[in-house]
Amino acid sequence: MNNEENIQQEQKKESFRDRIATVDAQGKRKWIFAQKPKGKFYNIRTYVSFFFFLIFVTLPFIHVNGRPLFMFNIPQAKFIIFGKVFWPQDFFIFGIIMITFIVFIVLFTAAFGRLFCGWVCPQTIFMEMLFRKLEYAIEGDAAKQKLMAAGPWTSEKIARKATKHIVFYLLAFIIANFFLAYIIGVKELWAMMHHPADNVGNIAALMVFSAVFYAVYAFFREQACTVVCPYGRLQGVLLDKNSMIVAYDYKRGEERKKINKSEERTAGDCIDCHQCVKVCPTGIDIRNGTQMECVGCTACIDACDHMMESVGFKKGLIRYASENGIANHEKLHYTRRMKMYTGLLIVLTGLLTTLLLSQKDVKATVMRTPGLLFQEKGTDSISNLYNIKIVNKTMNDIPLTVKLEDHNGTIQQVGNTIHVKKEGQGAGSFFIILPKEQIKQRKTVVHVSLYEGDKKITTVKTNFLGPISSTN
Ligand code: SF4
Ligand code: SF4
Repeated sequence: MNNEENIQQEQKKESFRDRIATVDAQGKRKWIFAQKPKGKFYNIRTYVSFFFFLIFVTLPFIHVNGRPLFMFNIPQAKFIIFGKVFWPQDFFIFGIIMITFIVFIVLFTAAFGRLFCGWVCPQTIFMEMLFRKLEYAIEGDAAKQKLMAAGPWTSEKIARKATKHIVFYLLAFIIANFFLAYIIGVKELWAMMHHPADNVGNIAALMVFSAVFYAVYAFFREQACTVVCPYGRLQGVLLDKNSMIVAYDYKRGEERKKINKSEERTAGDCIDCHQCVKVCPTGIDIRNGTQMECVGCTACIDACDHMMESVGFKKGLIRYASENGIANHEKLHYTRRMKMYTGLLIVLTGLLTTLLLSQKDVKATVMRTPGLLFQEKGTDSISNLYNIKIVNKTMNDIPLTVKLEDHNGTIQQVGNTIHVKKEGQGAGSFFIILPKEQIKQRKTVVHVSLYEGDKKITTVKTNFLGPISSTN
């Protein structure tokens, strides 16, 4: 074979990468009728998904100090993570959480490939462990589904399709309710159910979420992973030859050949039964190598193990392994790149923990009133006017008074005690009055504290402007 022929053959071999498996040469969608997987991994994934569903439906009901454990109220820019509330003022913390999360994803993917997609991603879990299981129950296995799709609209087909879509919509509606609970909280959700007329916005959001979930699980399906999900598309840069992936052992499997009991087998262990392709929910052939569409669901491992067992070959022709593991029989190991990512992750997590722990429930910002310098107060004192803004993240209304913590001066509050409503914001103004002899420089650092009765809530530092005392 000359060089040109070699190149052509190589191009032909790689031509499957020119388009995704679920779209044909004309750009039309190819519907995947995935066979139901059976085996060890599928069973474990089923148990893991039960646990996931349990967490998903339980978390919105868990409250800490009167607040949900988690809430992601995007419209009000209010987030609660592990019972701690974050507002737009804390956006930098949210930024660090996002960076930590991205580094975690990068590290995790470098080490464990798409383990997240196959085992934990809500899209995969809901699709494969809930909606597809129901589809098998209503429409039958993959072969029956295919036959029904190609056949005429008989009364049985109409009944089964209608049942499936009603069940899918109801499930999507239930999921949308829980999803909304993570955004507005269960109490609001409850109120919305009891007074729908007062909650038109939330009802509209619920209908939109239900429609989107229904459309995704009934029609869009694996396209969410192969076309939309950015994580899937990043695999090419995140994975390396030491990453753990679902891989076909081409060294052992090739050359593929159907089993023929009447002759001595000289080919590889792959008996070309296509079971690994038939069970794949994204419709790919894992024997072509690592592909962007593979969501690491392990269905092909179970299918191939079953075939290997039935023909008396060793299991694990498709297994969790690294590219180096397959090519050079290297064991999965902890690489320098992974160590580097881990170091970065530890630093970020440390920073994040410190920031979270040092978060105060009442925060105050004190600023001198713009445009004003200082005022003479009688013959021996100077005053500065300040504005104070207070953020109260607690679940109680707080009446606050301002006190000077250092210097022998006084505070004169403008108006009465500042009342800050629970989970609200308050503002006020006050004068700091200092005797002239205490002012030794143009800017003097002063500390003011906020008190609720006798209880000090927080202390803030600010500057006091004045002329340099003539006694110095
Ligand atoms: S190739 Fe295997 S692991 Fe990847 S999506 Fe298909 S069945 Fe799942
Ligand atoms: S299931 Fe295993 S034996 Fe069958 S085609 Fe796939 S890799 Fe080959």
